[in-house]
Amino acid sequence: MMKKVLVLAEAKDRSLRNVSFEALTAAQRVSEGGEIVAAAFGSDAVNYVGELSKYGANKVYVVSNKELDTYTTDAYFQALRQVIDAVQPEVILMPHTAIGKDLAPRIAARLGLGLVSDVIDIQVEDGEVIFTRPIYAGKAFEKKKVVSGILFATVRPNNIPAEETGGTAEVVDFNVEIKDLRTIVKEVVRKTVGGVDLAEAKVVVSGGRGVKSSEGFKPLQELAEVLGGAVGASRGACDAGYCDYSLQIGQTGKVVTPDLYIAAGISGAIQHLAGMSNSKVIVAINKDPEAPIFQVADYGIVGDLFEVVPLLTEEFKKVLV
Ligand code: FAD
Repeated sequence: MMKKVLVLAEAKDRSLRNVSFEALTAAQRVSEGGEIVAAAFGSDAVNYVGELSKYGANKVYVVSNKELDTYTTDAYFQALRQVIDAVQPEVILMPHTAIGKDLAPRIAARLGLGLVSDVIDIQVEDGEVIFTRPIYAGKAFEKKKVVSGILFATVRPNNIPAEETGGTAEVVDFNVEIKDLRTIVKEVVRKTVGGVDLAEAKVVVSGGRGVKSSEGFKPLQELAEVLGGAVGASRGACDAGYCDYSLQIGQTGKVVTPDLYIAAGISGAIQHLAGMSNSKVIVAINKDPEAPIFQVADYGIVGDLFEVVPLLTEEFKKVLV
């Protein structure tokens, strides 16, 4: 049955995040030919219309209120609620990012909707929309269906490949009323500058306590740079002060699903695996052949990371640079 789907597009550093296109691709599957409406927030929203059309949006709600330039729960909640009231969607999808994780439960609670969060696949089977999501820290997957009300889900980055469909979307200039804000962001001070976004990186090179110092991360940064990837870390490395907590991957850190995950000097504790075990290819470098990380690795290299990582960088440079 045809469904009207609303997708909240998310931008970072004035460009749309790839997961917005992945959510639009998921929307194409569930809409079964119905209308796909994207909503873009902030002063730059109008610049995103072309790309949103390319990935399947039939209509784009451009909500260019200045209060939406930087995310705050209050402002985004008020804006999205008004968009939902206007669009009357049967399905709502948004990225499972820091914003999606904050905003979606609030919307669900206030509108009395069920929410399927952190979805890695969406299919329509016998006319029913089936959401797949990881459970037990990625050790198993559950399939869910929503039996009544609006179907509402957040989509994990890097899992549903974005597909271009072409097309031109109708633009709706939609001004929302935003009032009584309890928080106003005056300035954003970044801990990490530039580079590839960890949550959406296709390649992640992570270091653990085995890197032994912040200096020890340098070979990993060089390898990540050659591969066009991002650097991540275990909590062990963060706790030891070798790197910033913004790099932490795992149960209490970021969840990543890159095409290639390289774990160097990481033992493979269950809490770390929770953040990376769904990566497509996992390479482990550890000098302990009994390290648990080898149980989830597709390729294991037993050796000293300070010898192995620079060798890999040199070899990749020969073919990639
Ligand atoms: P270690 O376990 O100390 O492993 C270091 C590894 O490096 C060893 O296997 C060693 O053989 C290898 N090594 C040493 N030197 C070299 C070398 N020169 N070359 C190659 N290999 C070398 N952890 C996370 O990562 N993310 C989380 O989100 C997270 N959340 C947690 C939440 C809770 C509630 C709890 C209790 C724990 C959590 N942890 C988390 C911590 C987790 O249990 C582990 O303590 C942590 O992952 C260990 O980090 P590590 O693998 O870097 O360190």
